[in-house]
Amino acid sequence: MEKHPIQKRQLVKVIESPVDFIKVDQQKCVGCRNCVIICGMNLWKVSDGKAALAADYRRFCTECASCFTVCDYDAIEFTFPPPGYGVVYEKG
Ligand code: SF4
Ligand code: SF4
Repeated sequence: MEKHPIQKRQLVKVIESPVDFIKVDQQKCVGCRNCVIICGMNLWKVSDGKAALAADYRRFCTECASCFTVCDYDAIEFTFPPPGYGVVYEKG
């Protein structure tokens, strides 16, 4: 197969945010697991009836906001990483 001249995997990279951009309100979380089910990067878990993000989520989160969208209990606060951090497009 002919090698594509554009190295697609080099077009996007993740620069780890220095600050948290997703937070969970433990008081509001009911442990429904919607966030666990929806996250394509497998960054959530529920233990003792409460949701928790992986400690290294800032390195792997795609900023899709699906967890925020499916939480029916308003327990997830989602923002984007500061400019220049998180998912960064090299071109385009
Ligand atoms: S979707 Fe919301 S309420 Fe359900 S486990 Fe996740 S954070 Fe908790
Ligand atoms: S924003 Fe998307 S990738 Fe990031 S934790 Fe939520 S569901 Fe997972």
